[in-house]
Amino acid sequence: MKVQCVLCDVLHELEDNALQAKRLRNRRIHMYLCPECYERIDNNTKKRHATGSFRLYDPKEKKRDLI
Ligand SMILES: [Zn+2]
Repeated sequence: MKVQCVLCDVLHELEDNALQAKRLRNRRIHMYLCPECYERIDNNTKKRHATGSFRLYDPKEKKRDLI
């Protein structure tokens, strides 16, 4: 089946028995991310986590306790 990436509009061919193709058919949502866009989003998410907006614990606090 043919799928179109929602971000870069590039058409990709998915094997009909591929897990991703089955999921897309079952949900009837044609939301597909090509591997390149998927990776880009994945990296951005990790970067956002690294900037500290999702700081769960402060490493400096921990160090102070040890000293
Ligand atoms: Zn894409």
